[in-house]
Amino acid sequence: MKVLGIDIGGTSIKGLAVDESGTILGQTRIATNASQGKYHIVEKVGETIQALLEQHPDAARIGIGTAGRVNTNTGQVVYATENLPGWQGFNIKEWAESEFRLPVAVDNDANTALLGEQWQGAGENLSDIVMLTLGTGVGGANIIGGELVRGAHWNGGEWGHVVLIPDGHPCNCGLHGCIEQYLSGTALVRLASEATGHAYLTGQEVLTDLQSGNSRIMEVMKRYVFHLALVLHNLHIGLNPQALILGGGLIDAKALWWDSLMARLKDMNATEIDVRPALLGNRAGAIGAAKLALTLSNS
Ligand SMILES: [Zn+2]
Repeated sequence: MKVLGIDIGGTSIKGLAVDESGTILGQTRIATNASQGKYHIVEKVGETIQALLEQHPDAARIGIGTAGRVNTNTGQVVYATENLPGWQGFNIKEWAESEFRLPVAVDNDANTALLGEQWQGAGENLSDIVMLTLGTGVGGANIIGGELVRGAHWNGGEWGHVVLIPDGHPCNCGLHGCIEQYLSGTALVRLASEATGHAYLTGQEVLTDLQSGNSRIMEVMKRYVFHLALVLHNLHIGLNPQALILGGGLIDAKALWWDSLMARLKDMNATEIDVRPALLGNRAGAIGAAKLALTLSNS
């Protein structure tokens, strides 16, 4: 069987055609601007699927990963922030099934990223895994006993909105001090700007200054690693997974901070913890969405 895996992100929509063995048969990527809202995103998702179906008309199912909380029984986005205006309440499964006449499975994008890593990446052959994606925000997902733990209200694994610093920096979820406000790439840019008085625009600029030995940025990164180690330690104690996988844009620069994270964890006596970098990069979500489609029951 051949299926499509689609990953709906804030800046682009990625699509893959995949067979049952996981071989990628075709791929496409369409730039999008999420701030333009629901109709714009839907149009771009439609174009992505259409382009793949033209090359692979025998694709039998479609899997879709999206930001937001998804009721995977109905395929509806039950909660989304204003990063995707109009997305909350939208039933992606109903729309895609009526548009393309194929069975569709939908899930949260962090869940699909973890499914991808479990299938073909850093979590291969593991049944108990926690994943954090350190990117524009902080995504999270759990697989326990071989199954995704989505929770009673579909926000299981949303580690990004667990509070790290009481009364800390305000978050777009309405709380203060969430993990996302200290461990995302966006947060790193803010923290570096606050510490130096220089208005950094991108994480890459911060990392370039880290590499050149800027002492204030080194201090910011030390604090970042301390917070990350604390979060990983807590997840390790709470869920005791076989491995914790770290993905997202910050992993591309892991050469600059991975050793200090390992040293920090060792200092915390977290000797049994197994922390691994994700292996699939920004394709994890689409690969996992394809896996989701493959495991969709025929009923
Ligand atoms: Zn939050």
